[in-house]
Amino acid sequence: MKTTVGNKVVLIGAGDVGVAYAYALVNQGTVDHLAIIDIDEKKLRGNVMDLNHGVVWAGSRTRVTEGTYADCEDAAIVVLCAGAAQQPGETRLQLVDKNVAITRSVVGQVMAVGFDGIFLVAANPVDVLSYATWRFSGIDHHRVIGSGTVLDSARFRYMLGELYEVAPSSIHAYIIGEHGDTELPVLSSATIAGVPLRRMLEKDPELEGRLEQIFEETRDAAYRIIDAKGSTSYGIGMGLARITRAIVQNQDVALPVSAYLDGQYGQEDIYTGTPAIINRRGIRRVVELELSGHEMARFTHSADTLRGIRERFFSPDR
Ligand code: NAD
Repeated sequence: MKTTVGNKVVLIGAGDVGVAYAYALVNQGTVDHLAIIDIDEKKLRGNVMDLNHGVVWAGSRTRVTEGTYADCEDAAIVVLCAGAAQQPGETRLQLVDKNVAITRSVVGQVMAVGFDGIFLVAANPVDVLSYATWRFSGIDHHRVIGSGTVLDSARFRYMLGELYEVAPSSIHAYIIGEHGDTELPVLSSATIAGVPLRRMLEKDPELEGRLEQIFEETRDAAYRIIDAKGSTSYGIGMGLARITRAIVQNQDVALPVSAYLDGQYGQEDIYTGTPAIINRRGIRRVVELELSGHEMARFTHSADTLRGIRERFFSPDR
């Protein structure tokens, strides 16, 4: 892999999600240069001006510019937020036709200038579009990361934190599988301030119902937020900024993302939500959680659902 210099990010798609990500990135001072591309040039110009007017108050300077595809040549990361967003009542999987077409066009233009960094995909359905990005780009799958269940896991940790009155950072719990209706919580290995959740479940059988309710609120949160304000943006913006930090700072940190499975969990040739170790080279390795029998059955169902959608566009890789 050619080593890119500096920490330049190209963001493609400056809608609600892209701009929330840009705002988080500039505030956190993670990158040297953020170049933004959008087909809506007028809105893009306004957002770039607005973001630059906050740079003086950020921890360090970020150059924010209106980008072109030529910017991708020396970018460390290209972030894909371009695409139609969910309408009230629409599932993520229903977006697939429009957004596969946009992804094909965008990835083709990125690769045409010799991009040699990492793709970070957020557009929905994110697991299918991460797979599409990998196939359209032709690069090693370690260099294509989807935001996966980073947002769902953050929502779940927040809600468990409210229940136990513990900061979400002291809670370790993953949502895995599809970023969507078939995702599942991994309660068997979750810990609250270091205490295994399964021990608490053994002592308090009524807890299971409460946890299932919290999971359902997590899974359906996007529908409620979209219904209330038209889109979800801040949570995913912060999640994308977290993944970006893991990459540019070479952190080797475990984050729930959409990663290519090559035998893990008994699944092959699919992108789906799982913890993975993230560093400057992308996905260093997938973390294969130990699942209970029930969790494994749910995960398999989720993977089968994604595979069914994906096979409408791509034949298996092998
Ligand atoms: P939005 O409509 O506000 O923004 C989309 C932007 O993409 C627009 O500015 C549009 O001009 C631009 N765009 C469209 N086609 C383009 C192209 N070919 N090249 C460049 N720019 C293009 O939508 P949003 O709310 O920002 O959502 C963006 C995507 O992110 C959607 O697919 C949405 O479902 C997804 N999303 C993902 C997560 C997640 O957790 N992964 C969370 C929320 C939203």
